[in-house]
Amino acid sequence: MFNEVLLTPMTALKGIGKETAQQLADLRIETVYDLMYTFPYRHEDFRLKDLTETPHNERVTVEARIEREASVMFLGKGKSRLQVHIFVGRHLVKAVFFNQAYLKQKLTIGSVVTITGKWDQGRQTINGTHVHFGPKTDQIDFEPVYSLRGTLQQKRFRTFMRQALSEYGHALVDVLPVDARMQYKLVDVRAGLEGIHFPQTAEHAKQARRRFAFEELFLFQLQIQALRKKRRDDEVGKVMKYNNEQLKAFIASLPYELTNAQKRVVNEICRDFLTPYRMNRLLQGDVGSGKTVVAAITLYAAVTAGYQGALMAPTEILAEQHVESLQAWFAPFNVRVALLSGSVKGKTRRELLAELANGDIDILIGTHALIQPDVVFHNLGFVITDEQHRFGVEQRRILRDKGESPDVLFMTATPIPRTLSITAFGEMDVSIIDEMPAGRKPIETHWVKKEQFGAVVQKLENELLQGRQAYAICPLIEESDKLDVQNAVEAYEQLRELFRGRFEVGLMHGRLTPAEKDEVMRDFSEGKLHILVSTTVVEVGVNVPNATFMVVYDAERFGLAQLHQLRGRVGRGEHQSYCVLMADPKTDEGKERMLSMTETNDGFALAQKDLELRGPGDFFGKKQSGLPEFKVADLVHDYRALEVARDYATALVQTDAFWQSDEYAPLRQVLAKSGVLDGERID
Ligand code: ADP
Ligand code: MG
Repeated sequence: MFNEVLLTPMTALKGIGKETAQQLADLRIETVYDLMYTFPYRHEDFRLKDLTETPHNERVTVEARIEREASVMFLGKGKSRLQVHIFVGRHLVKAVFFNQAYLKQKLTIGSVVTITGKWDQGRQTINGTHVHFGPKTDQIDFEPVYSLRGTLQQKRFRTFMRQALSEYGHALVDVLPVDARMQYKLVDVRAGLEGIHFPQTAEHAKQARRRFAFEELFLFQLQIQALRKKRRDDEVGKVMKYNNEQLKAFIASLPYELTNAQKRVVNEICRDFLTPYRMNRLLQGDVGSGKTVVAAITLYAAVTAGYQGALMAPTEILAEQHVESLQAWFAPFNVRVALLSGSVKGKTRRELLAELANGDIDILIGTHALIQPDVVFHNLGFVITDEQHRFGVEQRRILRDKGESPDVLFMTATPIPRTLSITAFGEMDVSIIDEMPAGRKPIETHWVKKEQFGAVVQKLENELLQGRQAYAICPLIEESDKLDVQNAVEAYEQLRELFRGRFEVGLMHGRLTPAEKDEVMRDFSEGKLHILVSTTVVEVGVNVPNATFMVVYDAERFGLAQLHQLRGRVGRGEHQSYCVLMADPKTDEGKERMLSMTETNDGFALAQKDLELRGPGDFFGKKQSGLPEFKVADLVHDYRALEVARDYATALVQTDAFWQSDEYAPLRQVLAKSGVLDGERID
């Protein structure tokens, strides 16, 4: 881009008429620039290999001498199979070509050819795809293969590409700053494009790939960082001068000492309060890492600064648990905490809203009920959403808009690998609690076959006899899926039968009304139920420290992140906890997931593993990915490049030169084109 010449339409190239132009347009290739930035998805490797060292089914290129005349078998419908005996070095093998009977004349006895194809070791046969008449010398090593459609041939496409690069390559403008290219030893755009399409060597291809991976990550980061800077400059928040003495007294009054990680994130958040920028921060902390107390401390900071705070939780049970915790912690202090949920109604609700509006309530905790239009704050300064992925962008925005640019903190227990959080939440600051409170016993996790159910029941009973409680989790792929509810119902009936007259079993699934769910949950947390059979609705935040045993049915149907979330329901109290995964995974990936679960309790390690096993696209699930699609960059392996690109972009947008000097004009054009500078939001 950035040079009009590159916008030359494809029809300007030799051999492109209307029809071809249309075929190219279907691939979104309309200009020479589009063409050059259409990258091959792989290269055919024509390097000579040693046949004796080639594994079965691998592609190979060899030089061969024709030993015998080729024989052709006609298979009907114009199909044919040509077979020829060849010498590769001193080995006599066969080569087979389909539907290329015309080769028979050209494969003369004694002549030398270069053949490429898949090596069938058992049959000692190369299933040929390419043949070149003569030795290898005058042939290229790597040939690009593009993702094309219809009748457009690879060979023709390659000639267009060659022509475009040789006739228009001079017009390319490198968007990467010279300094960045020098610093990170990246080839320039022209060499890069040559190398990504027509590499001379494997190293050439690698350097080209490296450059474009960096370019993609850098341009993406630049958009994010420019947006961040723009937001900071535009929407000036307020400085919240909290009372440090009061805050210290509160922390000292807590029933335990904060972990170092908790202290660190409290400091990060409080530092944001003191700046005039509006906080936009993500707090990541594994299940049980103690995010609630961090929320309490920082909400209190806002209160001591004379502001109100709000905490939004995804379920009523969670909201109630938060209220309970906070009211207990704030009891000795003069802080009013109130609960607003769907079940707060009528006169109670009216009074509560009045107290909220006149500032008598300091901290409001609740569910979606918080974002109803008639909920009006006196001066909302700080907003927290717990389990942020449960809320849509719109809901978070409404809550934020209830204050005058309040500071915002999102809490999530879903550990997200670093590369993904930099990419998906790049415009946020990220705080991480990467340490568990001391004395927490790691959950013992076992993987068993489904036929071992009897042994699982024994272990379960053992725990119940010691006064503990247990979860039995059944998969739920879709809320609406009847079959899944069925699974839970069956498991429920089976367990009820097994423990009849001795232990109480409850059932929880997505088909229950919120009131029914709450009742079941309450019975379980009060110990009236000993076993809770549930679909994954139990996943979020529920805290029953007496539950020490979890069995997961059909565990192979869950992703790693979800299994880890589920497992976090146990191991919350003083007793040793257990998690049993019943699974007969069919795939290697499935087996690896089960093994990973038994090997570590570290959510970040599991998240990284999940990313490697499933790839970035699937990591967040379909619903909320927020990830850009990269052509070259790979979020699993290119994290070093990502960090470098981010740091460079972050520093660059802070310089005046970036916004003014000609050198950066191409980059500013990229930003202008992406709409970032018009204040378009990425989240
Ligand atoms: P999560 O991060 O999953 O929301 P919670 O805030 O519910 O975790 O905390 C889990 C449990 O750990 C709670 O019972 C909480 O009181 C306790 N806890 C939190 N911080 C500490 C700490 N520093 N020392 C000991 N226990 C703690
Ligand atoms: Mg929590």
